This record gives sequence, structure tokens and C-alpha cells, in this order.
Amino acid sequence: MRAIITGGCGFIGSAVCRHAVTDLGWTVLNIDKLTYAANKQNLASLDGNNRYSFLQADICDHAAMEEAFRGFAPDVVIHLAAESHVDRSITGSAEFIQTNIVGTHSLLEAARRLHATLEGDARDAFRFVHVSTDEVYGSLGPTGLFTETTAYDPRSPYSASKAASDHLASAWFETYGLPTLITNCSNNYGPFHFPEKLIPLVILNALEGRPLPVYGDGSNVRDWLFVSDHARGIVSAALHGRPGEKYNFGGRAERRNLEVVHAICDALDEFVPGASPRRELITFVTDRPGHDKRYAIDCTKAENELGWTQTVSFEEGLRQTVRWYLDNESWWRPLRDGVYAGDRLGLPG
Ligand code: NAD
Repeated sequence: MRAIITGGCGFIGSAVCRHAVTDLGWTVLNIDKLTYAANKQNLASLDGNNRYSFLQADICDHAAMEEAFRGFAPDVVIHLAAESHVDRSITGSAEFIQTNIVGTHSLLEAARRLHATLEGDARDAFRFVHVSTDEVYGSLGPTGLFTETTAYDPRSPYSASKAASDHLASAWFETYGLPTLITNCSNNYGPFHFPEKLIPLVILNALEGRPLPVYGDGSNVRDWLFVSDHARGIVSAALHGRPGEKYNFGGRAERRNLEVVHAICDALDEFVPGASPRRELITFVTDRPGHDKRYAIDCTKAENELGWTQTVSFEEGLRQTVRWYLDNESWWRPLRDGVYAGDRLGLPG
């Protein structure tokens, strides 16, 4: 199996690359622009592996994408490259529109041109998996779950740009017969998570005795999925999913943000006891503008049709994640000292 994976130096993309090359023996070309969120260290385990190659390029560079697709001739494209942080989309949306919408269009066109040259089994087997988020569905009340038929209602610049790219992927299936599939996943967490996102930010701030910022009253609910379970889900959609379909992935692990922060504090207190309980560092800060109240995913379709199931519970995954950050300071220290020191993001610019 030959796969082009975009955004492979990011958090989830690197998990997909490691799974595809190491566990499945696929040959992978990772295309990544290396934005602030990228880290080649995420793929250090693939250094020297002749089934893995890397192309530094912008997915918006259509000529470069056409050349890469022609040259590598993938059986499958797994598209994860994106601007991914809601708070940054509030401060500056332009990059989100460019990468998430224009970049996805550029890849769909490159895939369409390649697909048109394929014949027989190669043409039938070709897949373009567009990796998206549950945030396109908007915000839930206290009950109910997002399913694949929930109407789109994106409410942040990030989710609106992802929704637009989902519609492009569907349109390229309907209009051109390009075998696209869309996956929509809930919040991921785990090793190699860039420390601007809630879980790694809280772990590192707590370790350094800094305030733990909780937006609003901490009652917003997210459904958490361990990143390696998501990576397996994306690959199972590529292998077993039906073109033109959407598949939701989630962890059946709804937690209020404050509960997540409490769990991190308690795990750290157990692993590296401090002078006082880390919960005392919690600081409630001005809420994110337009903060969606609740996300929760019904992943029955992925379980039934793809044979996918999550393997890591939230409690186990969170402890593994806290342990990983404790054991991998050499990974996160340069990020905290350089690209992002942990300051508040997401106030309108
Ligand atoms: P990330 O921010 O960690 O990584 C994004 C990667 O894309 C980076 O390596 C970056 O360099 C690359 N990239 C950005 N712009 C690019 C461009 N123009 N050209 C080439 N490469 C570019 O993101 P992530 O958290 O790993 O998310 C990956 C995908 O999964 C995204 O599409 C995101 O919308 C989706 N998703 C994320 C979550 C989550 O909880 N993180 C949940 C559901 C879906």
C-alpha cells in the first residue's frame, strides 16, 4: 500500500504515519509545510526507514501537489494537514481559510487528475480520506449525540473552514466520482500533542507551578479519544470505508473541561507529589468567544461498518499521556522555550 499522508508532522498525522509504516508496512510519503505546529521529532522512530519519505511543501501549492501525486502514485491519500487550533482561528482566520479550504481544493484536484489516469483495480481501489472534526456539527444541548446525518452548523472560524473543506470532499465525489471519504472525530489527546491544547497545556503548566487556565466555569463538555485509536480509525476508513460516506469517531468519554483538569492534577500529584495539590492552581479565565457548549459523538456506524473500536479508555489514556510528558521533557521543553510558552491565545485580534 502506498499512501500520501498530509500533515504527517503534526499530532494526529504523525500517529497515522507511525501506524501505517510501523504496524502495517505501508510505504508513506508525508507532505507537510512544517508550520509552528509541526515537529519532525514526532517521526524520529521512522528515521532511516526506507518505507518513509518526507516532502516539505504547502498543500496550497497546486503544481507541487500534482508533481508529488504523479511521482509517488499513491493508492490512498490521507489528508490531515490543517490549521487546527480554534483559539488561533479567532485571532487570525486567514491561514485557516487558506490551508483548510484552498489547500484541500488543491489536493482534491491533484487527486482527481491522478485518478483519471488510473485503470482497472487501481482505479477502483483508490481512496481519498479527508480527516475532519466533530466541530462542524456545532454545539449540543445537555443531551443527544452527533451522527453522520447531523446538519452542519459550524460556529468558529476553524470549524467553518473545516466544514467548507468537508463539502468540497463530498462535492468531488458527487461531481467527479473521486472516491472520497470523510471522517469526523471528537477531541484527541495523547503523546506528541502540541502544548497549546488543553491537556498538554495543563500538564506542563501544572508541572511548572503556573496557573491552570479554565475557560468560563469549566462546564463545557468534550468527548475524548486517544490519538492512536483515531489513527487506526482513519486507516480502517481508508481500507474498509465506502466512498462518498462519512464516519464519526469518538471515545464515548464525555467529560467537562474542569473534570479533565482535575484528573490531570490528581495524576500529577500521584506521580510527582508537590508541596500542595495542583488543583489549587486552577484559575477561571474569560471564556472563549462563541465557546461551543457540548460535543458528543455516536460512533456506531464506524464500529459496525469498519469493525473499528476504541481500545484505550479515557482514564487509562490520560494517565499514559501524563506519564509520557513526564518522561519526554526533551520533546516539549524546546517548544515551551521557543514556539509557544503557554500564554493565553484566542482573544479577537
Ligand atoms: P496539528 O496542528 O498538530 O498538525 C497539523 C499539521 O499540518 C502540521 O504538521 C502542519 O505543519 C501541517 N500543515 C499546516 N498547514 C499546512 C499546509 N498549508 N501545507 C502542508 N502542511 C500543513 O493538527 P492535528 O491536531 O494533528 O489535526 C490533524 C487533522 O485532524 C486536522 O485536519 C484537524 O482538523 C483534524 N482533527 C483534529 C482533532 C484534534 O483533536 N486535534 C480532532 C478531530 C479532527
